[in-house]
Amino acid sequence: MKNPAGINTRSDMLTSFSRQHLLGIEGLSPNEIAFLLNRAETYINQNRQINKKKSTLRGRTIFNLFFENSTRTRTSFELAGKRLGGDVINMSLLQSSIKKGETLIDTAMTLNAMHPDILIVRHPASGGVKLLSEKVNCAVINAGDGSHEHPTQALLDALTIRRRVGHIMGLNIAICGDILHSRVARSNIYLLSTMGARIRLIAPKTLLPTNVETLGVESFNNMKSGLKDCDVIMMLRLQRERMHASYFPSSREYFHFFGLNYKKLELAKKNAFIMHPGPMNRGVEIAPEVADDVSRSVIREQVEMGVAVRMAVLETLAINLDTSQPEFFDEKTPKPNQ
Ligand code: ASP
Repeated sequence: MKNPAGINTRSDMLTSFSRQHLLGIEGLSPNEIAFLLNRAETYINQNRQINKKKSTLRGRTIFNLFFENSTRTRTSFELAGKRLGGDVINMSLLQSSIKKGETLIDTAMTLNAMHPDILIVRHPASGGVKLLSEKVNCAVINAGDGSHEHPTQALLDALTIRRRVGHIMGLNIAICGDILHSRVARSNIYLLSTMGARIRLIAPKTLLPTNVETLGVESFNNMKSGLKDCDVIMMLRLQRERMHASYFPSSREYFHFFGLNYKKLELAKKNAFIMHPGPMNRGVEIAPEVADDVSRSVIREQVEMGVAVRMAVLETLAINLDTSQPEFFDEKTPKPNQ
């Protein structure tokens, strides 16, 4: 049966990802993750065509609500929504009502009254996006909440790895840098370990979370032992905007010990490749020549995969919304989550 968007995939959708929101990776099953990655695969080619537009989200209203700065994530979601034919409204709440003292909940209630279908939300507080999702009727996507989670970043990273190597299971993946403040690290730890990779965190002690043993990963305080036998090296930015103390003596010293250059890259497997979620601080966590070496770095591919992954997530949540509305159910079809 087709839904109003003309999509013919209801039974696949319900069996594979029947959630109303995408608030994080924690708790997703390998099947749910694989389902979203497989959907995203179908958009990669379409995004390389001259005509990139589909009508899957025609008539749908999507708000891009950013309470924190963003360049690539906001643009990537906007492009994803538009390529699927949705109406995307960008709201940078840094300059808006939030400055006038409106609370997150009031903003959510106001927007909810405009009947959006999907809210894409970035918020500086960990848990802020979940709180908002509890106050609205539409689908909510977490585009980064504090240092908690950034689920679409982890999905796009996984898609990049899977396309490069063919699988995720059994890979040794190093995540290096400011793990403590990184939502990208947290979402990737959940996703990549759920899909069977072995994760190593490499950071100065001060930039590792205190509960690191509970995360099911290995941790290292130096690149030499941490990078040994790694297949993938994911570098992270120092998130100075979340630092309220001094975590390392200087950027120069940080680069000396933890910055990725060719010499340190040699410690990993011969064909290991480099990832970075951006924005990059060249000369702080990564040497410019390494970041720009397209034979080793997949940073641009990550950006491309980001659009495909976000199209997959938007499409999936839009279909789940349709199927959760009674008029689109026949008697034999159970409601999702029942
Ligand atoms: N863009 C990523 C994030 O929003 C990583 C970063 O900002 O360093 O978390």
